[in-house]
Amino acid sequence: MSFAITQSCCVDASCVAACPVNCIHPAPGEPDFGSTDMLFVDPRACIDCGACAEVCPVDAVFPVENLVGPLREYAEVNAEYYAGKDAPAALAGSPLFHAWDPVRFDRVLPADFPRLDVAVVGSGPAAMYAVEDLLLHTTAHVTIIDRLTEPGGLVRFGVAPDHASTKQIGEHFARYHDHHRVRMRLGVEVGRDVTAPDLARQYDAVIYAVGAAESRDLGVPGEDLPGNLASTTVVGWYNGHPDVPADTVDLSGPRVVVVGTGNVSLDIARVLAAAPANLSGVAPGALAALRRSAVREVVLLGRRGPRDAAWTRGELLGLLRRDDLEVVVDDHDPRVADEIAAATTTETASLLRDVPLLSGAGEPSSRRRVVLRFHAAPAEIVGSGHVGGMRLGNGDVIEAGVVIRAIGHRGREVPGLPFDPSSGTVPHVEGRVQDRPGTYVVGWIKRGASGGIGANRADAAETIASLIADGAAGVLGAGASRNPVTRALGRLARR
Ligand code: SF4
Repeated sequence: MSFAITQSCCVDASCVAACPVNCIHPAPGEPDFGSTDMLFVDPRACIDCGACAEVCPVDAVFPVENLVGPLREYAEVNAEYYAGKDAPAALAGSPLFHAWDPVRFDRVLPADFPRLDVAVVGSGPAAMYAVEDLLLHTTAHVTIIDRLTEPGGLVRFGVAPDHASTKQIGEHFARYHDHHRVRMRLGVEVGRDVTAPDLARQYDAVIYAVGAAESRDLGVPGEDLPGNLASTTVVGWYNGHPDVPADTVDLSGPRVVVVGTGNVSLDIARVLAAAPANLSGVAPGALAALRRSAVREVVLLGRRGPRDAAWTRGELLGLLRRDDLEVVVDDHDPRVADEIAAATTTETASLLRDVPLLSGAGEPSSRRRVVLRFHAAPAEIVGSGHVGGMRLGNGDVIEAGVVIRAIGHRGREVPGLPFDPSSGTVPHVEGRVQDRPGTYVVGWIKRGASGGIGANRADAAETIASLIADGAAGVLGAGASRNPVTRALGRLARR
């Protein structure tokens, strides 16, 4: 028997460190790390100890014999990653266990370093990996500041509500909210309640983990029409985000168009098209709207072909295996069938071989349906006073009452910090904000909107290493926690 990693893998690589026989790859430091959708267990070397399953923060690792339903194919998915690769060292006669790296103490502050007070702005995954790293490697006291009164950032308001195992990582992070060196300051917004210069003066270090809150625009006429929604709005809506009213998404028409072929577009399509009784965790206001919904078809538009789609294998499989809706590929473009046929088995597009091709996609269906339409560049959002549909580059018009753009995110400028509008990020070097000693960034506002939850672990490690090195070099101030602004923050906070 062996263990296997499954769909909800967050790629934070906690399991790699736990595995005694080094059979989970790609591991941090290996060339493929960060470029695969998930990590894989090598069944040739796994000794079934279960250590990986114990540490996995999203409960994605199971014994192969316990895999049921759609997860069953992950035994093969894990094994496939190793097909054609050399036998693991253990099977080649080398010692079974990890070799130890030389001991290094490169992330230690001087013993006489005074109390270090750090503010972390944001409480999502990037913020919390940074907090975890600080608590585990320093004696710092940490103040978590979030503009919302409920912590969690994207784990709380960005992960699809029916992805319960992914949301589970929120429990891992929430353990730190009550840590004796952590204070929570919720309902406090930088730029509204406190300024960046204030925080820089009053804390030894400030780490911004504010994410990428803006959805990218399509850049076509008609984007100002009501009914053209950002994916962040829709995702916030079904997750009960306090800024998004329950009536935000108009579901009175039979069809919705979603532009984009990433995992967010699949999440939105699944939530809008599936039978509401089969969805768990949807916010009550959105769920009530979904129960009244007239939507029967969601059309996903990809500017390029099926082999260029960015969705991951696990998420696409999750959609294809649902029995409460049908998925079809629109074959308006003659290239689509050939491209799907040409995809190799390791390409996600190969999963579309079993999906019916339908020239009539776009015509009403008796079943709830998701239509995947490729080589379909948006040209104009049409409508009079409200979205009425999407005109494509070839002149076709797909009628729809709502258009949702899910083509990526970009960071929003933080008042008082430098900002690069072209990348939507704060300029930095290894997490140190340009021209702002003692100010750091982590997560999407640092590297741009790419990578899932787990990618923030290595990202946070880099930023905290910079912070500690600066502390050791005497760049950071000392002992700022006893000052008036910090106390004022406490009064401002709504929790
Ligand atoms: Fe490694 Fe044990 Fe997990 Fe197998 S079960 S992958 S040996 S940690």
